[in-house]
Amino acid sequence: MVEGWLLSMIGHSLNDFFSINDAQPDADGFIEAVLLPLAETVVYPNMVTPLMLEREADIAAVGEAQIRRETVIGVLMRGNEIAAPTAENLYTLGTEMALGRLMHLPDGGTSVLAQGRRRVQIVEFLQTSPYIRVRARPIAEDVSETREVAALMRATLSLFQKCVELSPQLPEEAYVYALNIEHPGWLADMVSSTLDLPLTERQRLLETTDPVERLRRVSSLLGRELEMLELEESIQSQVRREVDRNQREMFLREQMRVIQHELGEADIFQQELDELRQRIEQKEMTPEAKDKALKELARLTMIPPMAPEVGIIRTYLDWLLDLPWVTQSEDNLDLAHAARVLDAEHYGLIKAKERILEHMAVRQLAGEAMKTPILCFVGPPGTGKTSLGKSIAQALGREFVRVSLGGVHDEAEIRGHRRTYIGALPGRIIQTMRKVGTINPVFMLDEIDKLGVDFHGDPAAALLEVLDPEQNHAFSDHYLDVSYDLSHVFFITTANYLDPIPPALLDRMEVIEFPGYVEDEKVSIARHFLIPRQLKQHGLGDSGVHFEEEAIRLICREYTYEAGVRNLEREIGKVCRKLARRVAEGKRATKRITAEKLTKFLGPPLFLPWLREESDEVGVATGLAWTEAGGDIMAIEVTLMPGKGNLLLTGQLGDVMQESAQAALSYTRSQARQLGIDPEEFDRVDIHVHLPEGAIPKDGPSAGITLATAMISALTQRKVRRDVAMTGEITLRGRVLPVGGVREKVLTAHRAGVRQVLLPKRNEKDLVEIPKRVLRGLDVQLVSHMDEVLAYALLPPDATGAAGAGHVSKLPRNDNGE
Ligand code: ADP
Repeated sequence: MVEGWLLSMIGHSLNDFFSINDAQPDADGFIEAVLLPLAETVVYPNMVTPLMLEREADIAAVGEAQIRRETVIGVLMRGNEIAAPTAENLYTLGTEMALGRLMHLPDGGTSVLAQGRRRVQIVEFLQTSPYIRVRARPIAEDVSETREVAALMRATLSLFQKCVELSPQLPEEAYVYALNIEHPGWLADMVSSTLDLPLTERQRLLETTDPVERLRRVSSLLGRELEMLELEESIQSQVRREVDRNQREMFLREQMRVIQHELGEADIFQQELDELRQRIEQKEMTPEAKDKALKELARLTMIPPMAPEVGIIRTYLDWLLDLPWVTQSEDNLDLAHAARVLDAEHYGLIKAKERILEHMAVRQLAGEAMKTPILCFVGPPGTGKTSLGKSIAQALGREFVRVSLGGVHDEAEIRGHRRTYIGALPGRIIQTMRKVGTINPVFMLDEIDKLGVDFHGDPAAALLEVLDPEQNHAFSDHYLDVSYDLSHVFFITTANYLDPIPPALLDRMEVIEFPGYVEDEKVSIARHFLIPRQLKQHGLGDSGVHFEEEAIRLICREYTYEAGVRNLEREIGKVCRKLARRVAEGKRATKRITAEKLTKFLGPPLFLPWLREESDEVGVATGLAWTEAGGDIMAIEVTLMPGKGNLLLTGQLGDVMQESAQAALSYTRSQARQLGIDPEEFDRVDIHVHLPEGAIPKDGPSAGITLATAMISALTQRKVRRDVAMTGEITLRGRVLPVGGVREKVLTAHRAGVRQVLLPKRNEKDLVEIPKRVLRGLDVQLVSHMDEVLAYALLPPDATGAAGAGHVSKLPRNDNGE
C-alpha cells in the first residue's frame, strides 16, 4: 500500500497526466460513468494506485473512457474469483477516478495508474455489456472545523508519526505528507492507504462517509498497528542482541583457538581426544553404552577445550570407561570346596550355609538361566551376617562389596543425580560397581531396615528396581543415563529387624534368620574361631596361649551382654593385647587364661548376672524386651504414694507402652475385688510406674502383663518372684495376646539365668525355633490369661503385707531365703 501515498505525491506533480475532469452531475445531481470492477484493492480519493487489468472487458472499458476523456468508477468486487461481475457481486459504494495511460508490462499484463477523486454511490446499472456503465451520486464531505476534529487529527498524526518511526516500510516523507493534509477525511484516507488492512476493512472505511467518524476508526486501527510494530521491534531487538552475543562469543572462541594453537595446547587436547576414542573403542561395553560414549566424545570434539562442559563430559566418559560392563569373574561351583570354605570360617548358621550350597547346586544344573536369589540376613549385630557374606563370595570365587543403607533417605543416593546438577555423581550402587570392577560381585546392602523416607523421594522405590530380578537387568541411574545390568550381582541385604522393611522389598527377598547365640555356641565360636584369630592377629599364633572354658563363659556372662559375639571377640582381643605386651616387654606371660585371671586382664565385671543379689520384691516384675541388639531383660517397678489415683510413668515410655500401662491399670481396677484390693484404694494413692535405664526410649505393647503384675503386686503387697520373666500384651479383660521376638527374648532369659518364662499361649509356634538345649534349661509356661500369670509370678500374701492394705511406706522385706 505504500505505492498509494508515494504515487499520490507523484500524482500531484503529474497532475497534467490525470488532466481529466470529474464527471459533471446532471440536473438531479447524478453522474454517469464506466464501472471498473476491482479485485484486489480499494482506491481512496486523492490517492494514486496502480491497477492491474486482467479481463478483456476491463481493458476495453478503460480504452473507451480514455477516448472520451472521462473518469471511471472503481468498485470492489465481493470476492476475487469472479469472471463476469454483475450488480449482485459488486459493492455499491466506489470511487470515481481518473486513469493514466495504459501500460503494457513485459510479462504480458496491462496496468494503469488510477487517481482517486471522490466517493460515489452507485444508484443504477445502465448497461452491463461489453462493459458496465452506471449512474451514481457523488458524495460530498463537509466538516465543520470543531476543536474536537482538530484534536482528533492531531492525535492521529502523532500515532502515525510513531508508526512511521518504527515501520521499516514507511519513509519519513509519509509523515510530512500527512502533516500537510488539512481535511480529516483526506487524512483518514491517506493513513488507511498506508496500513496493511484486509480488503473488507478497506471497503468499510470507504463506506464510512462521515469523515470524522472515518478518522476515528482509522486512528483506532493505527493504535493497533502501533502495538504490533512495538512488539515486532522488541522481538527483533532481542534477536539482534542474541545474534550479537553469539557472534562475539564465536569471535572470542576463534581467537582462543588460535592462541591455544600457538601455545601448543590445542594439540594436547586433540591428543587427549584421540586417546579417549581409543579407550572407548577398546573397552568392552554394552552396545548402548558404547554408543553413548561415542556420542559424548563427538560432542566433546565440537566444543573448545576451555569450555566448562569439557570437564563434565570427560568425567562422565571416565565413568563409562571405568565401570565394568561385561567383565565377570568365573564362578567356582565346586560344592565341596564351598562347603569347606563356609565351615572353615563359621560355626553353625546351618540354614544360611545350606541355602548357599543349594543355590550352587541348582546353578550347576540350570546354568545362567537360574536367577540369582536375593537373600536377606536378619538378626542382631555380631551374629556373623557380614562375615558369612564374605565367605559366600570367597566360596563362589566372586568379589565382595558392602554398602550401608543406614540413614539413606534420598532417592538420589541410590540412583544418582542427573548430569544437569552441578557436581552430579552416580548413586551408591553404580559407584560400588565401579569400585568392584566385575558385574557379578557378592553385593551386601547393610541395614536395609534403616532406610529413611523424606521429601527427597523414596529410596525404597529405587531399591526395588535394584532388587527386582525382573527389572534389574536394566537398572537406570540418573547420572549414567544408560541402562546398567545388575542381574548378575548376588545381592545380600542385612537387617536387625524385619518390621521396618517395606513389604514390597521384603517380598523380593528370601529371609534367612541369624538368631542370637546361646552361651555354649559362643564358647564354641570363641574357641574355634575368635581366639585363634585374635592370637594370630596379636602375634601370639604359636605361643601356646590357652583360654579355659570357664574363662570364656565368664567373658560371655560378665563382660559382654549381647546376642552376637562381637564384644566377646573384642574382650578376647583385649586379653591378647595385654599378653602381647608382656611378651614384648620380655616378661613371663601366662599361657593359661583361667577365670580367676580374667579380672587382671579385663578389670571388674561389666555386667552382673540378673539374679545375683536380687530378691523377690513387692512391685517389681521381670519383663523381657526385644531390642536391636537381640533381647533384653528388665525390671519394671511400681510404687504407691499418697495421692488421688493418678498414673505416673517414667523411664521414656513410648506411646504404645504408655497405653499398655493404662490398660494394665484399668484391668487391675476392674478386677480389684477378685484380686483382693480395696476399690477405694485407687482414690487414695498415685501409682508410679518406672522402667529402669530411664535414658533409653522403650516402646511396644509386650510389657503389658509385666506392668499389670507389678501394679497388682504393689496394690496387694504380694511379692513377685524375681526368677520368673514374662512377656505378653494385655487386654482390658486380662487376656494375654502374642508378641514378637519370642526367640530373642527366651535366649535372653536363658542367658540371664531366669528359672521360668511366661509366654503368651499363641506364641507356642515360635518355640520350635528355640534350640532344644535352651528349652531344657528353662521352665517355659504358656499363658492365656492374667490369672495364670499371677498364679505363676506372685508369691502368696505374707503375714506382714495384708492384701489390699496397700501401704505406701511399707518396705518389702527380703524373705525369699536367698
Ligand atoms: P554382623 O554383620 O551380623 O553384625 P559380623 O559378621 O560383623 O556380624 O560378625 C562379628 C564377628 O563375629 C566377626 O568377626 C565374625 O567372624 C564373628 N562371628 C559371628 N558369627 C560367627 C560364627 N557363627 N562363626 C564364627 N565367627 C562368627
